[in-house]
Amino acid sequence: MYRFDEIKGYEEVIQHFQNAIKLNKISHAYIIEGEGGKGKKRLANTYAKVMQCQAHGIEACDACRSCHSYDSGNHPDVIHIRASKKTGIGVDDIREQVNKDVFIKPYVYDYKIYIIHEAEKMTIQAQNALLKTLEEPPIHVRFILLATHTHTFLSTILSRCVVIRLRALSQTCIEDYLEKDLGVPDYQAKLYASFARGNMGRALALRHSESFHEMRKDMIQVMTALSNNDKVEAMAQVEVFEKYKDEKQDFLDLMLTWLRDLMVIKSLGDLEPLIHMDNKNLLLKQVPYLSYNRISSLIEGIEQIRKYDRLHINFTLLVEVMLIQAMNSK
Ligand SMILES: [Zn+2]
Repeated sequence: MYRFDEIKGYEEVIQHFQNAIKLNKISHAYIIEGEGGKGKKRLANTYAKVMQCQAHGIEACDACRSCHSYDSGNHPDVIHIRASKKTGIGVDDIREQVNKDVFIKPYVYDYKIYIIHEAEKMTIQAQNALLKTLEEPPIHVRFILLATHTHTFLSTILSRCVVIRLRALSQTCIEDYLEKDLGVPDYQAKLYASFARGNMGRALALRHSESFHEMRKDMIQVMTALSNNDKVEAMAQVEVFEKYKDEKQDFLDLMLTWLRDLMVIKSLGDLEPLIHMDNKNLLLKQVPYLSYNRISSLIEGIEQIRKYDRLHINFTLLVEVMLIQAMNSK
């Protein structure tokens, strides 16, 4: 179940882990940092599984007792610590589950590995308690802290951990995985990948997200209205933008992918792969009615909205300006 060769992207992180195992230089503590969906848990579990594997290679053998018990979800020497909903991870959690426990030797295997989930939710007292163990960890103990960000950590914790920051995956990497490994049709893979912001979990969630599909339908409605060349109808679309006020980045991103397709058809014909391939006929229909100028004006408008949004300028007003400018460009 957990194997390095099944993890997409993050080659340098995996290489770092595998080198550490090979050279017998496994750090006592790691922090894997990245937003939800990026694969922190998978990386941590795989690293822990390979550390414990009785074949002592740089990949899980999947045949030994340790690998079997890891995959069954109850490895005796890998301890998961989780935040409770209300209080996060408190000092008592660390004292009881870590500090008192670390001195007991592993039951069966080489290491005792503590995986702390949502470690950014440790209170300061909890971090101070953990620090005591991190300062002089028993030889068989390893820690892997998973966190969406590290700014809540004490600098003394950070300085004792190897911090691994998960970068955004490339669009091609996500697209390839969806297409080749999961059999998602190429145009859909392209759509989800271009929308996932380098986050594989997000790409996977989009596949089954009804709200995403509804948003896309609404965006297409807006673009259809804009291609009808009717100013009143165009201005009425402000309502749709308002519906997505709280998800404006997503909505604008989606609109950009449509504008991108229109540009591709205009300059290259429909030979290039389109993101919205399933709506190719509609795109082809809109192309003659949307001039280069109007498309550029919309792209500029979206950039302006993003820029001014940071300055907290009224969103509706910005959308209206964008639509007026677009409809005025010939
Ligand atoms: Zn094994």
